Amino acid sequence: MENLRDKYEVVIGLEVHAQLKTKSKIFAPDGCEFGKEQNTEVSPITLGMPGVLPVLNKEAVNMGILTGLALNCEIPSRCKFDRKQYFYPDLPKGYQISQYDEPICVNGYIDINGKRIGITRAHLEEDAGKLVHAGSDGLAGSSYSLVDLNRAGTPLLEIVSEPDMRSSEEARAYMEELRNIVRYIGVCDGNLEEGSMRCDANISIMPKGSKEFGTRAEIKNVNSFSALQRAIEYEIDRQIEIVEEGGKVVQETRLWDDNSRETRSMRGKEDAHDYRYFPEPDLMPLEISREWVEDIRSKMPELPSAKRQRYMSLGLSEYDANVIVEQMGLALFFDEVLKLGATPKIAVNFIMGEIAAYLKDQKIEITDTHLTPDNLAELIELIEKNTISNNIGKQIIFDMLKEGKRASKIVEEKGLSQITDESAIKEIVQKVVDSNPNQVTAYKGGKVQLLGFFVGQVMKETKGRANPKTVNDLLKEILG
Ligand code: ADP
Ligand code: MG
Repeated sequence: MENLRDKYEVVIGLEVHAQLKTKSKIFAPDGCEFGKEQNTEVSPITLGMPGVLPVLNKEAVNMGILTGLALNCEIPSRCKFDRKQYFYPDLPKGYQISQYDEPICVNGYIDINGKRIGITRAHLEEDAGKLVHAGSDGLAGSSYSLVDLNRAGTPLLEIVSEPDMRSSEEARAYMEELRNIVRYIGVCDGNLEEGSMRCDANISIMPKGSKEFGTRAEIKNVNSFSALQRAIEYEIDRQIEIVEEGGKVVQETRLWDDNSRETRSMRGKEDAHDYRYFPEPDLMPLEISREWVEDIRSKMPELPSAKRQRYMSLGLSEYDANVIVEQMGLALFFDEVLKLGATPKIAVNFIMGEIAAYLKDQKIEITDTHLTPDNLAELIELIEKNTISNNIGKQIIFDMLKEGKRASKIVEEKGLSQITDESAIKEIVQKVVDSNPNQVTAYKGGKVQLLGFFVGQVMKETKGRANPKTVNDLLKEILG
């Protein structure tokens, strides 16, 4: 397949649904917290009872504007809601309230590794409920389905990209950055497994050099970044095979099955006219004043790209900056430590080293530990002031994570403070030199790498408390 790949160019556009973290639904007062008992958040509005009226949730609009601004979109001064008709068992009204030709956000972009990916639009809409397939008929797996309408009416922002991506890696990087953005601005959990962020991938192929895009297939049901990449790779190969055999790719919606690692046809893809969109008569068009937009802009938290730049300007490598930003809990913790005046380099070494390893090992988040930014800042200060060595710091950080003890307290209790008194260290250095005559001869004979051995012995004697620089200097002096 590899050389066939060279003949074709891949075109990808993503439609990402982000579930907005409002307290209540987009047009109803029911809560929309994940994991509640089935069918408990179901007001008559959610159930689509005759005569009920939707009322727009202002917080959902605020979050839509905030996201649009973070994605460099224009926020038109007017948007409106439309009915999109289709029948699903988990959509009691028989239509979804969405936005069709006048969405809340238009014409944006985000930059991924220096490449600009256009964002066509982002629009507000309501989510459907959930079908739970149950029973078993031995063949298709389930013999009946139950419906849970808790999710029905949860606000979604659908973010539609331009067909600007050219590989599965680019699509994944775009999706990851989008997730970072919605999480940092606090509008969405970005949890692909729980479905609070969902992605439909549109994929087509065309002969290299062609200007005309091929017919696309839309892939649904990818619920991890790696599944997205696998699904796209599979789909590219499937389409190339069809075209190579003289066939035509049909426009359709396909489902990704991550177990069998293939896509299968779900339904022919509807065209917009099949949905019979018309303006939602129960909701007024929404006027968004410039003051409103500017007010929200002024509350914009630092975006992931700016955070990365800032970390790099503090001396972090691009790699470290990326890794920290990917883990929002760590990044927010790091920022708190910086605010307390800690040296960034030492803080990063702890966070990316011992702390990250501990969290991974325990499968927990930093907020689940007893370590506070204040405690880490104090530890760093002790190292900077030469009260303790870096190595001692690396030992006591674990007690701090587990028990929340202050570094200064541990140092005091265990007598870990660094020996900086030169004459005291000199005595120990001399003792080590005297008791290792063979190594001294070898060292003087040219085996200079034995210096490390002597340093190690002194550290052992002092339980790691001697100042390493002083030890090195004194050893060189005494050994000549
Ligand atoms: P629909 O609303 O029917 O899903 P849109 O025109 O809104 O269709 O496009 C949906 C997504 O498909 C967009 O992200 C767009 O970038 C992408 N797309 C459109 N044409 C192609 C194509 N030929 N190949 C790949 N992606 C495409
Ligand atoms: Mg679409």
